[in-house]
Amino acid sequence: MSLSGNLLIGQRAVAGTQTPVHAINPATNERLEPAYLGGSREHVELACSLAWDAFDRYRETSLEARAVFLERIAQHIEALGDTLVQRAVAESGLPQARIQGEIGRTCFQLRTFARTVRAGEWLDVRVDQALPERQPLPRPDLRQRHIPLGPVAVFGASNFPLAFSVAGGDTASALAAGCPVIVKAHSAHPGTSELVGRAIQQAVRECDLPEGVFSLLYGSGTEIGIGLVNDPRIKAVGFTGSRSGGMALTQAAQARPEPIPVYAEMSSINPVFLFESALRNRGAALAEGFVASLNQGAGQFCTNPGLVIAIKGEALDAFITTAADAIIRSPAQTMLTPGIYNAYSNGVQALASNANARLQAKGVAGDGHNQCQSHLFVSSASDFMRDHALQAEVFGSASLVVQCDDLAQARQVAEQLEGQLTATVHMDAADSEAVATLLPTLERKAGRILVNGWPTGVEVCDAMVHGGPFPATSDARSTSVGTAAILRFLRPVCYQNVPDDLLPPAIKQGNPLNLRRLVNGQREH
Ligand code: NAP
Repeated sequence: MSLSGNLLIGQRAVAGTQTPVHAINPATNERLEPAYLGGSREHVELACSLAWDAFDRYRETSLEARAVFLERIAQHIEALGDTLVQRAVAESGLPQARIQGEIGRTCFQLRTFARTVRAGEWLDVRVDQALPERQPLPRPDLRQRHIPLGPVAVFGASNFPLAFSVAGGDTASALAAGCPVIVKAHSAHPGTSELVGRAIQQAVRECDLPEGVFSLLYGSGTEIGIGLVNDPRIKAVGFTGSRSGGMALTQAAQARPEPIPVYAEMSSINPVFLFESALRNRGAALAEGFVASLNQGAGQFCTNPGLVIAIKGEALDAFITTAADAIIRSPAQTMLTPGIYNAYSNGVQALASNANARLQAKGVAGDGHNQCQSHLFVSSASDFMRDHALQAEVFGSASLVVQCDDLAQARQVAEQLEGQLTATVHMDAADSEAVATLLPTLERKAGRILVNGWPTGVEVCDAMVHGGPFPATSDARSTSVGTAAILRFLRPVCYQNVPDDLLPPAIKQGNPLNLRRLVNGQREH
């Protein structure tokens, strides 16, 4: 399948008119064809107008029809086969196995949302039947269901060209909720975006859905991206990327005459706490596991372990020595984009020249383009707490070990942390009492708490939370991974004394969709 370089607006392929975007192969710094001419204000207008026209029809599709649509998208992505794998590898520098894994994750995610849509629990139906005889006042008939917010603007992420991009978690959850989606492609992988976008276009066509259910635009964030966020027909935003990008979108959304929610996943350094008994009994294995997690994907994961916190002493010294040995042996890896490589180099440089941190070890230097060299730094807890700059996310394989005097100081460090996607604890049974004193703080700081694991690797399932307090995300009440992500794009509506023939099927008296509803305070089934 050849790439056209066109914007995909509804069912149309439209040539852009603005500054072209070219993918760069980060392994060679070669420009990849074709050029993707950026969209203009008129293209944003057309995509938003089609999305708005599609909204009422799409949101009332049956649960089955919407589930089939999501499954059809997955089928068409799988059918792209090697064409998609090769293009994504060339645009990202990621190994083929990782891209194949990400395609599998993307399709699994779409099918998981299909299952969620069919089950209908997300409609959260509540019925309080009329009590005409109630004293002193009768109660009217009250019924609640959730409806989708409206068209959603999704920003593809650079670090997951498939699973967090055109058909990734934000798109899948918004489509599952009944929201049309307009994607602003990440400029790092326009070809991958086009291929996946065409798979969605095909599914829209085959499922006989209104064309505005999906559009894909290329162009700059400040023009196309802000243009989408400012359009009154856009009702929510999904984003994964930098803190500055996420904040710019959040501020634009708040400044609208009608402010809208922005679900931005931004920066997190994912603290790992090593407790005394665990450190003493298996410090070497912990050091190896830590470096493996740190180096995975050249550290370009939002859950990368960028901070290790432990009480100083022989066991921690041994951990640092083993981790440093593993870092020194770590081969360089190609980063996703020249921009991410430059940001990583600047972040490492800032740490290396910071008097409050000491460079402990660095990995093998790469001789190609955009090579990530692993770095390990060490700091004292008092220096760490005095210097907020040490909490900045360095996106890549760099981490900082913070040495504490005692447990009380480790708890102080935890209290001073910004919001995080994850907080990890390594412990043995003998550490249990000490861990219990830290857990309340970790609950306030992070979206996911792990014991004896590593934060990289985010399961797509019902219980997952991939979110957390600011700056991990712009809205701590949500998750961007797992089926609960659908809740971001819904709102409740209550129907009072509405005649049964006018009610939507989910809340009709006879329960034709056979949903598990909360009726007069009792769960049905
Ligand atoms: P980014 O610069 O935030 O870009 C992400 C998307 O947002 C792009 O489509 C970009 O458009 C748009 N954008 C950025 N700034 C904007 C603004 N002020 N107004 C409107 N739109 C804007 O992220 P990136 O390119 O993926 O990587 C840059 C850095 O972000 C990395 O070095 C890393 O520090 C961080 N990052 C963090 C995570 C994480 O999960 N924590 C993931 C990825 C990246 P353009 O096409 O104009 O660039």
